[in-house]
Amino acid sequence: MATTAKIGDVRVTAIVDVTPPAFPIANVFSDVPASDWDAHQDALSDGRFQTNFGVFLLQSPNSTVLVDTGAGPGPHDDMGGVEGKLMEQLRAAGATPEGVDAVVLTHLHADHIGWALKQNPGAESTPTFPNARYAISNTEWDYWTGHEVMAETPGVEEGIYPLEKLGLLQLTDDETAIVDGMRVLATPGHTPGHQSLFVESAGEKGLIAGDLLHNTAQFEEIDWCADFDMDKPASRTTRKKWLEKAASDRLLMTFGHLIIDSNIGHVISVGDRYRWQAV
Ligand SMILES: [Zn+2]
Repeated sequence: MATTAKIGDVRVTAIVDVTPPAFPIANVFSDVPASDWDAHQDALSDGRFQTNFGVFLLQSPNSTVLVDTGAGPGPHDDMGGVEGKLMEQLRAAGATPEGVDAVVLTHLHADHIGWALKQNPGAESTPTFPNARYAISNTEWDYWTGHEVMAETPGVEEGIYPLEKLGLLQLTDDETAIVDGMRVLATPGHTPGHQSLFVESAGEKGLIAGDLLHNTAQFEEIDWCADFDMDKPASRTTRKKWLEKAASDRLLMTFGHLIIDSNIGHVISVGDRYRWQAV
């Protein structure tokens, strides 16, 4: 299967920054009884939850946009010392950090903000993508940079907060334009200000959906929520709305936590459920 596809004149490339070790399924979907997975073993890896920390590169004739920035350079001690591969993958896709016009952060969890800024020990952080605006939803910014939350969340104070002082921050709301033909939409639930990037080009449409879901079983089991979803009822509502729209409008969809090679595709409506058809 493919790691790249087109929405009109926009090329979408899936990149993996880090592949963590597989998790026990009960640690990720603790509300779902183990036996309910029997019918979805094909969505697991030897009964465990395998994911990757994905990033999407969007290249149009006029602009280069990066959606999310992975877990960062590392080495990641909590994942066996692996190092993030975003930079080499970006270059392999024909892009450079300097050539990125906008970085859209779907939300501010650590596995999405890792490469946003270079954290320099003893000195101020500097931007990894020096010519980019960084688009973060107002709601998300307010939540994570709130005094108490920032103090207890690793990564935000050094990895995100300096963006404001550096003058690189673009705070967004529902429907804020990023570049020509691309705008962010509020898709809350996974986090308070989670946003997705809607792309329209040459009569085609797509949604770089972020963390609207975490596993292919959720196309059929739309009410299942990963424990990472901060507001599960809201995440169900958002997921339902966008899977329905993806199927009816034939949107090209991407999900950063599905496995590379099968994280770009279409949502097919089958009876009262959905199915994933990777490109
Ligand atoms: Zn995530």
